[in-house]
Amino acid sequence: VRQTLFSEQSEFQHVDVIETVPFGRMLLNDGLVMVTERDEHIYHEMMVHVPLLTHPNPRKVLVIGGGDGGTVREVLKHSSVEKVHLVEIDEAVVRACRLHIPQTAACLDDERVVVNIEDGVSFTAKSKEKFDVVLVDSTDPIGPATPLFGEDFYSSVYTCLNDEGIVVAQGESAFYEGEMQSKILTILASQFAATYIYNYTNMTYPGSLWSFVVGTKGLCPLRDFDERRFSRLSLNTRYYNPSIHRASFALPEFMRDKFDSLLTGIQA
Ligand code: SAM
Repeated sequence: VRQTLFSEQSEFQHVDVIETVPFGRMLLNDGLVMVTERDEHIYHEMMVHVPLLTHPNPRKVLVIGGGDGGTVREVLKHSSVEKVHLVEIDEAVVRACRLHIPQTAACLDDERVVVNIEDGVSFTAKSKEKFDVVLVDSTDPIGPATPLFGEDFYSSVYTCLNDEGIVVAQGESAFYEGEMQSKILTILASQFAATYIYNYTNMTYPGSLWSFVVGTKGLCPLRDFDERRFSRLSLNTRYYNPSIHRASFALPEFMRDKFDSLLTGIQA
């Protein structure tokens, strides 16, 4: 650690931004790594481009959590997107990142972005607006993020989604949180027409192999993946590409065994 740039106890958590030698600037909530300048692109590209290139015309996107802005930055690379609502519970996270991690937070000034400092649970429960894609970019299922891994929240998300809607959520590590993954896939399978899980690796989340879970009202991230749009948009990515998109749905045997009955289509 070279220096501490931001350190504050908010109403919800302890928020730090530190500067490190190997990873550049790093955001920590309650001492847990949220994003680092070195590898944040992996998580953010994989969370966003898989669903946005599956939906035929994503125009309105809702991001729950993600106050660092990295997910919003990737969403804005899609020219079809007209509006992005970011719903982050903790203003200290947004402020810390605006001040010290512009690599992710600078995009929050884009005119298509609305920043809401609010609990994602209450926002989705009362929202009258419909979205094409909902991205749940949350912390681990402790503290204020606990309800974001629950049934009532996903029922509100389902209602917020248009007929071709997709939800993608941060799905924890297959090595450490297999039970949590089963729980969230069970919830999604009980409410959505189709349920999938895909993997990625990064440098700073424990266990390396991490997942995103997907619920759709019918779209399939493999069958409906619009690869030509990836080239047409000239998406400037460093990890994501069409081969990675497809390969990320190939599951190791222990995950296939565990989630067999919960997955749909090509993954079943
Ligand atoms: N990429 C990160 C990861 O997987 O560790 C997530 C980063 S992002 C900074 C997560 C954000 O979700 C945190 O800033 C946290 O404050 C926010 N959050 C937690 N619970 C929330 C809730 N109920 N509503 C909205 N935002 C929430």
